[in-house]
Amino acid sequence: MRAAVATEVNAPLTRTERDVPTPGPGEVLVKVSACGVCYSDLGLVQGHYPFARFPVIPGHEITGTVVGLGEGVSWPEVGTAVGAQFLYDSCGHCDYCARGDQILCPAKRVTGIVVDGGYAEYVLLKAGYVTPLPAGLDPVTAAPLMCAGLTAFNGLRQGGARAGSRVAVIGTGGIGALAIRYAVAMGARVAVVGRSARGAEEARALGAELHIAASDTDPGPALKSWAGGADVILNASPSTEAAAATLGGLAPDGTLLLCGYGPEPLVLPTQPMVLSRLHVAASPSGSPHDLRDTLAFSAAHGILPAVTPITLDEAPAALDAMAAGTAHGRRVIAFV
Ligand SMILES: [Zn+2]
Ligand SMILES: [Zn+2]
Repeated sequence: MRAAVATEVNAPLTRTERDVPTPGPGEVLVKVSACGVCYSDLGLVQGHYPFARFPVIPGHEITGTVVGLGEGVSWPEVGTAVGAQFLYDSCGHCDYCARGDQILCPAKRVTGIVVDGGYAEYVLLKAGYVTPLPAGLDPVTAAPLMCAGLTAFNGLRQGGARAGSRVAVIGTGGIGALAIRYAVAMGARVAVVGRSARGAEEARALGAELHIAASDTDPGPALKSWAGGADVILNASPSTEAAAATLGGLAPDGTLLLCGYGPEPLVLPTQPMVLSRLHVAASPSGSPHDLRDTLAFSAAHGILPAVTPITLDEAPAALDAMAAGTAHGRRVIAFV
């Protein structure tokens, strides 16, 4: 099978031929339909994950079809269309696994970072950790839902967003654009905080009622004057500073939820936080049940990201463009 391999930190991806792997106990062999190119894949190559195991096939926004079952596997059946995400597997018996919070398992393993992922024609996955695709969901456009979609949907949920909430989303990239659409579909009122006025039109097209350009408007007071502040601010930008700049825009009892972050520390205005009982929280992607809910909600509301399909051979250049800041929109490696 054709595959692209990350051999070490700061080395370009190597395109190679490998044998189609054989599923072991508990595993399924999946013929990959598509795999999204995520900023975490660039992070892998740039050495942001000290626990990475090189050489490794990157990719954790996978859709495909089950074509083989390992010993002891009776579900999902051969022929089932499935999606797979960041969480490859977990211990299955710790307190977090027992309560369905497998993404918090101390022994979790990550697809495309410590085990081979979806930049290949076939991938081995764990039977209990794949998610059946709802009928009719296109495998290429749905691929980014496995990471960006899951992170956005679960981030809103962890932040307590519900119908009638005032939700502010920072950033309109892969996670941000989906977070805006999910929040609108949940019945929330949505504001968007962008860097410049350039994103205003896009934000309104996605359903936001307010766009704040942080380059010329202080987002804190602007959010406060928007119906008293935001109940949830979801940071989908790769900047901790951008998130901190909105803290003054939280309504009492409001939550700043970090999905995106930068290397800089988060500095908090403690007195206003105490007096208004503000919350700061963070959320990684999500557990298998969160992905089921994300896919069901996306299918029910027709929420799919705009993607640019590329070939496997174009994957190294896609990562280079991300590193250079010239990548626009979501790239998805399509095998179909
Ligand atoms: Zn566990
Ligand atoms: Zn990702």
